[in-house]
Amino acid sequence: MRYISTRGNTEPMAFQDAVLTGLAPDGGLLIPERLPDLGPELKQLRGKSFQETALAVLSHFIDDIPRDDLAELIERSYASFDAPDITPLEHLGEFSVLELFHGPTLAFKDIALQLLGNLFEYILKDRGQVLNILGATSGDTGSAAIAGVRGKDNIAIFVMYPKGRTSPLQEMQMVTVPDENVHCLAVEGSFDDCQAIMKQTFSDLDFKAEYHLGAVNSVNWARVLAQIVYYVYAALQLDQNGRKKVNFSVPTGNFGDIFAGYLALKMGVPIDKLVLATNQNDILSVFFNTGVYQRGNVHYTVSPSMDIQVASNFERFLYYRLDGNSEKLRAFMQEFAEHGAARIDQDGKPIDDNIIATSIDEATTVQTITDVYEQHQYLLDPHTAVGVAAAKHFGLTTPLVCLATAHPAKFPETVDKAVGAPLAHHHRLDALRDLPKRSTEIAADIGEIQAFLRAQAIQ
Ligand SMILES: *Cc1c(COP(=O)(O)O)cnc(C)c1O
Repeated sequence: MRYISTRGNTEPMAFQDAVLTGLAPDGGLLIPERLPDLGPELKQLRGKSFQETALAVLSHFIDDIPRDDLAELIERSYASFDAPDITPLEHLGEFSVLELFHGPTLAFKDIALQLLGNLFEYILKDRGQVLNILGATSGDTGSAAIAGVRGKDNIAIFVMYPKGRTSPLQEMQMVTVPDENVHCLAVEGSFDDCQAIMKQTFSDLDFKAEYHLGAVNSVNWARVLAQIVYYVYAALQLDQNGRKKVNFSVPTGNFGDIFAGYLALKMGVPIDKLVLATNQNDILSVFFNTGVYQRGNVHYTVSPSMDIQVASNFERFLYYRLDGNSEKLRAFMQEFAEHGAARIDQDGKPIDDNIIATSIDEATTVQTITDVYEQHQYLLDPHTAVGVAAAKHFGLTTPLVCLATAHPAKFPETVDKAVGAPLAHHHRLDALRDLPKRSTEIAADIGEIQAFLRAQAIQ
């Protein structure tokens, strides 16, 4: 399988190159040149373990890693999860919750980033290369990236975060990691400062090449690929041997998670509706309801991992929606870049037959946590609650899977308040309190940060 750019101006490349490249050189996103049909093998896949399902799905997309090696990479990636079936389904009467938070940082991003870290290590070793990852986080995503590459050969990671502006828990999840290839930088500035330094450093192409800088951003194709697996795995547990199609509700920010579901659907997995659930940052729900894609201001909500202005994976959906017409896609993206808005003509029809979208306000999110706890004694995290509320809004019925993207203990303030008791705990987070911390305080100054990189980067 080869990978092409949504913008149509990049030579097709193999999987390993797609993983190392991240963003396509023409500014587009990488997608497989065709989508495999899983239809004929669904029968065989039913009843398989998560890891076996992963191997079957990934094999269609990866032909430059021997199958045995791939199986071993998958085994190792999910050995760090604390549930035997990796993504267990919890049945709550009228709906099921797919728990995607059993990885090392208790968030669904672990599913992709644990695999990505192992893929990086494997590919770099094969090629005799090194990689120094530079990232900026406002708090939540840094720890999953760190957990993905800690202790890996030939890789170092540098994560900048605004000092004193992440939650204490988020900071602890990053700075208590003891591995020497992990560097946490507490920047004396804002998240915007961190992002600006990151952007500037990456645009210094000589520096970038000399120090083998890379990123683990949300548009890496391997991340989307890893996420397809749990849609297949969950759908085949609930589709009653192919007699029913399964609905999924997906708390959405950058469109990576729900896009994986969209691909699973296109590949013949028995999926009916995909509910795109946003918080007040509703650029995507507005688009799917009106055809207008318009940049907004960031609203800070109780579901911070979905507080976005633009959705970085949206372009991949757009490519399929425009029937693979890269010229039309480039025009859309250019219009958006110039005016902060672009539209698709709907002719009165929905943007997509399967994706239905709505945004959920803060009060409804919190009330949903309260209600589900009262009815089922089950704690939802605020992101998951957005998805549950959206599914309820559309009155969807079983089989319905709401993706649980984080463990409630990651957001104890909101969850405890919603249920009126301090219930949001996880032993792994409690244990962090006693661990030694490692981080470097540094000025929001590109010179100082580049000097740090020069001194610490793997050569
Ligand atoms: C990243 C994240 C999301 C949003 O996923 P996207 O792929 O960006 O749409 C939802 N919930 C949690 C907890 C997350 O960390």
